[in-house]
Amino acid sequence: MVKRMETKTNSKLDLKSLTREELITEVTALGEKPFRAGQMYQWMHQKLARDYDEMTNLPKAFRETLREHGTYTAHTLLERRISKVDGTEKFLFGLSDGNVIESVLMRYQFGNSVCISSQAGCRMGCRFCASTIGGLTRNLLPSEMLDQVYAIQRMTGERVSHVVVMGTGEPLDNYENLLRFLKLLTDENGLHISQRNITVSTCGLTERIRELADEKLQITLALSLHAPSQEKRRELMPVAYKYELGEVLDACRYYFEQTGRRVTFEYSLVDGVNASEEDARRLAGLLGNMNCHINLIPVNPVSERKYVQPDRRRILAFKNVLENCGKTVTIRREMGRDIAGACGQLRKGYMEKGS
Ligand code: SAH
Repeated sequence: MVKRMETKTNSKLDLKSLTREELITEVTALGEKPFRAGQMYQWMHQKLARDYDEMTNLPKAFRETLREHGTYTAHTLLERRISKVDGTEKFLFGLSDGNVIESVLMRYQFGNSVCISSQAGCRMGCRFCASTIGGLTRNLLPSEMLDQVYAIQRMTGERVSHVVVMGTGEPLDNYENLLRFLKLLTDENGLHISQRNITVSTCGLTERIRELADEKLQITLALSLHAPSQEKRRELMPVAYKYELGEVLDACRYYFEQTGRRVTFEYSLVDGVNASEEDARRLAGLLGNMNCHINLIPVNPVSERKYVQPDRRRILAFKNVLENCGKTVTIRREMGRDIAGACGQLRKGYMEKGS
């Protein structure tokens, strides 16, 4: 059965959030043959149609019925910036209710990766993050997460092979919609993006990490760790008042046990806060012999915050300590620096301009 509440906006069906089976049920209820649902699904999730009018093999009368009973999510492009440095692109999209979200396209050797937002705003309050400054406005629907990928593929004409849920928002704070989004994104009748090419990043909502583990998907879990101790983590991430570091790491171990997928730990390096060699040693000790990958992110300066990156020498020294302890470490390449700095800043700038 379709859970109407989750898939409806303004009491209409949000068609792009429905699974193929649900769409068949709905189309049949509207008095059409089930095969019309298959055609529609292909238009929405493979041909990436922007509107019902593109669905040329559907009878006109049926397209009118759809307009009446359903909503069709297709983002409006408000702004597109291309980095001169590395070809990274940032997109600012307008939603049907006037909200604004941000997505990023990164071009790598291995393919095109899109970073999507999972919420309009965020309520987690991480101190170094621009996305959380205005708080949470609302959750994004599955279709609104999907259409960030679709719109970018549609506009560039280039296949998106990887998706990271690392934009604005806490994906596990929008859990049901996230799961539905993942299901649709990986569906063989849709873009069929491999689960292994998808990463979901969380600030560490432990119950949800465990629930996600039980889904036994092959997606990568990235945990925003950012500190080697409970005390320091609390300074940077208010969510650490709710969840003990030990509990969070236990949930990550559980994720690995259930899925066999190595967890990525994200660690934003902030000068004078968490970036000393002593911090690196404590981090190595904390993670022990866990099978994991550590991704160091020199903190992106956000104008409202005082945090700055350590210099290159300190970053490399931090990495060195971890490697000498046998850890797999990468330093995240900064992409698109010239097109609106830290995560969420483009959206924030736009909202301030508009208000
Ligand atoms: N809510 C999720 C995903 C959002 S952000 C989470 O917390 O993981 C994706 C990553 O970027 C997170 O690790 C986040 O902590 C980090 N991040 C946010 N703002 C940053 C900044 N200014 N500099 C460096 N990393 C930042």
